[in-house]
Amino acid sequence: MDYGIKTWGNDNFFIEDGKVKVNTGCEPSLMEIIQEIRKDGIRGPILLRFPHLIQKQIRMIYKSFADARKEFSYEGSFNAVYPLKVNQFPNFVKNLVSLGEKYNYGLEAGSKAELLLAMAYNNPNAPITVNGFKDNEMISLGFISAEMGHNITLTIEGLNELESIISIAKDRFGCVPNIGLRIRLHSSGIGIWAKSGGINSKFGLTSTELLEAVNMIRDANLLDKFTMIHFHIGSQITDIAPLKKALREAGNIYAELCRMGATNLKAINLGGGLAVEYSQHKTTLHKNYSLSEYANDVVYLLKDIANRKNVSEPDIFIESGRFVAAHHAVLVAPVLELFSQEYTDQKLHLKENNPPLVQELFDLFNTMNRKNALEFLHDSIDHMESLLTLFDLGYIDLQDRSNTEILVNLIIKKAVGLIADKKLSEILDIQDRVQERYLVNFSLFQSLPDFWGIEQTFPVMPLDRLDETPTRSASLWDITCDSDGEIGFNTETPLFLHDVDIKNRDYFLGFFLVGAYQEVLGMKHNLFTHPTEATIIIDDDSFEIKNILESQSISDILEDLDYDIREVQENLNERIEASDIISEKEKKYILGEIYLFLNDNGYLKTINSNNEGTNNA
Ligand code: PLP
Repeated sequence: MDYGIKTWGNDNFFIEDGKVKVNTGCEPSLMEIIQEIRKDGIRGPILLRFPHLIQKQIRMIYKSFADARKEFSYEGSFNAVYPLKVNQFPNFVKNLVSLGEKYNYGLEAGSKAELLLAMAYNNPNAPITVNGFKDNEMISLGFISAEMGHNITLTIEGLNELESIISIAKDRFGCVPNIGLRIRLHSSGIGIWAKSGGINSKFGLTSTELLEAVNMIRDANLLDKFTMIHFHIGSQITDIAPLKKALREAGNIYAELCRMGATNLKAINLGGGLAVEYSQHKTTLHKNYSLSEYANDVVYLLKDIANRKNVSEPDIFIESGRFVAAHHAVLVAPVLELFSQEYTDQKLHLKENNPPLVQELFDLFNTMNRKNALEFLHDSIDHMESLLTLFDLGYIDLQDRSNTEILVNLIIKKAVGLIADKKLSEILDIQDRVQERYLVNFSLFQSLPDFWGIEQTFPVMPLDRLDETPTRSASLWDITCDSDGEIGFNTETPLFLHDVDIKNRDYFLGFFLVGAYQEVLGMKHNLFTHPTEATIIIDDDSFEIKNILESQSISDILEDLDYDIREVQENLNERIEASDIISEKEKKYILGEIYLFLNDNGYLKTINSNNEGTNNA
């Protein structure tokens, strides 16, 4: 059971000695890294960032396009910008900017806040592109950026934005940003993120508007500033065919505009969309092309159109974000509890005279073997349903019901153990009915919002015990008070985990490919905030843990919601002081406790009331 690591893992991780290891330098296991971080008392979910994986993705993109340009003797240049919306967190962005410096890797901004970030951090001379709807203020920021010396292109989404640029250009200091026109393609992408392309998409200029825009630019004497056309057919383009269609359309629009007298038009920006393989199962692969195929298609098609229409081969810009960011982050979350762990034979209290069906369950359990396991399992589930009905009708008591639940769970475990090596299809149906619920110390809304919002799956696997067969069909429950906070067992993409006794041994799950979009889309549902994060630098001899940023304290979260934290504290203090149930000494103690709670984060720390086995959170 390798949890499809060869499918989604991009050779970034591998399994050895039953553990997931990082495939670089001294090859530490994720367990080692997590245990090292937890030595300082940190608990709860931890987001690990691996800068070497950012570097790898950037290097791959530039290399693939360099190879393609060489192969087809392409005359235009290749340029890339990173779209900040994908992950704006400083420990990601600052690393990305410095790792991208030698490639002249730039930034893309879609809002004033992102533009200001780009202006503050972009590598000197590297391109900045600006997309999205813009008011006069945002356009002025674009002018300021050009006045600072940035190589910036404002992509126009509508003619009103162009009017603003022309009017602001008259009032400012003579330095005008480059102008890009976003084209509204007839072609669209496929999949859940395809809405950005197509004739009804939210963004871009129609052919008629394009002609009008070029005339407006010409009349304003700004033709030398019109340098780029832009399109984006959607994120996570899983099929290369729609992209090729869009490229043909955009290539021809580029050539027509050049021939119409757009004298300085020299670039086509393809937007983002390079897909990431999220699937853990070969049967449900998400994408059908490789990066080199993508680069070859782009270069070949644009060259072909430019040559046929006798215009210069355009400079290529891409704005791929998901592809660059997804791999670098892994969320590690401790399992807190297995719900059927409660069902042990010590808790079974059979009576001298049990209801016949309970007695039968007991017999099934004792006489079950590999041959009859499946049959007995079916029988036991039928019996359970009958016994639960008998309880509802008042014919059996609570002790009988408890014995029923325990026996059925013991039967399930025994059966799964006996037939675990049988053909998957044979046991999947059973597994679906007898899932184990794993309570995991994380918030799905905060850390995997795309799963909640659009059912985007992410690879998940335990960090160790990978040399033991996992026998339990798993549904994962997060710690929010919301039943949507669940990754249910799915027979098409089944997840099996180990039957672990959390009281005696830690069990961590890794959620992979979470570096794109998840962090900033994450919601503070139940006031769970961004998990603690750490950056891991790995060399040949050792690994280093840097930039540990602990999850926000409860005080900070409340302050973010605009509570006056002093008022919250005073209210709590006054109410404790006013209590006539406790003594003055006890009040002092409780005030201290409240202070500690407010200054700690909200993730779970201990799960056993008797304080045993408290390490697992
Ligand atoms: N460029 C534009 C204009 C976008 O709208 C997006 C995201 O949808 C991107 C780039 C990044 O796309 P991706 O992360 O799929 O590469």
